[in-house]
Amino acid sequence: MIKQKYIDLLRVEPGKKIHLKDYETGWAQTKDFEEIGKDKLKERANEILQQNLADLTQVQQLLYADDRYSLLIVFQAMDAAGKDGTIKHVMSGVNPQGCQVFSFKKPTAEDLDHNFLWRYMKSLPERGRIGIFNRSYYEDVLVVKVHPELLQNLPDGKRGKSFWEDRYEDINSFERHLERNGTVILKFFLNVSKKTQKERFLERLERPEKNWKFSGSDLAERDHWGDYMDAYEDAINATSTKWAPWYIIPADNKWATRALVADIITSTLRDLDLKFPEVTEAQLKTLTEARKILEAE
Ligand code: ATP
Ligand code: MG
Repeated sequence: MIKQKYIDLLRVEPGKKIHLKDYETGWAQTKDFEEIGKDKLKERANEILQQNLADLTQVQQLLYADDRYSLLIVFQAMDAAGKDGTIKHVMSGVNPQGCQVFSFKKPTAEDLDHNFLWRYMKSLPERGRIGIFNRSYYEDVLVVKVHPELLQNLPDGKRGKSFWEDRYEDINSFERHLERNGTVILKFFLNVSKKTQKERFLERLERPEKNWKFSGSDLAERDHWGDYMDAYEDAINATSTKWAPWYIIPADNKWATRALVADIITSTLRDLDLKFPEVTEAQLKTLTEARKILEAE
């Protein structure tokens, strides 16, 4: 397990105003880490990842049996920050029957004809299960804020600061509603640097087996890097709550991202009061009788 004090550095305290530029995208998040050294830390991160994947298998089974909570995990990031790879690795240990991943792309005409939360509501995890949102309703205060022309047809009104503040409020209320109904929410912003994004884009262009991952629009969005960082900063500041905290995860090194995300998910589930349902007297009687019948065969 990663020490709580390091995880605390990544969790955005409700009400606190953070600046993304104060967060490292690399591995040296603290002085302690710098002293340990990159190679040692990487080795340790991989061990932590493996241990957490094993633990996650157990705790997911308990989540399912307990059947009171569900877990919603939101991933947001710039392109090539490693959302897909992180989801793939972290979920490699879980039972597919208890887990679903939804990747939200550009909204359809039907989506746009509804309120902005509609399409996400339909994909929420059932009790006992883990739901992963690869992009989410946060796109509606990120890409849509950077490109206001993407906004659906709405009644006339101001589209300035207060419009976005209303959306943050809607999101907070929505998440509060979910939490009150047993959904535990974790939100990860994979914080990649512009430099690393460039390196990963170049790799996608150079390696034929990675070409398919590159899209022309990736460069266009990169051009809006500053606007995106502002939009992320505003959204994170407005929506990191006690019931749905944001974690800002360094994403320039995949080993660090994966170990941190796996650790936060596993320890969040472990901290819930999950238990196997108690067997009632009547059930116990049925079990005893069933055993007698089988043994008498
Ligand atoms: P990858 O590139 O790794 O396959 P991706 O999540 O970037 O994964 P793309 O198909 O490249 O998938 O991009 C999806 C696009 O849809 C993103 O540019 C994203 O901003 C956009 N999008 C998602 N939700 C919305 C939304 N609500 N409104 C407008 N655009 C959205
Ligand atoms: Mg993309």
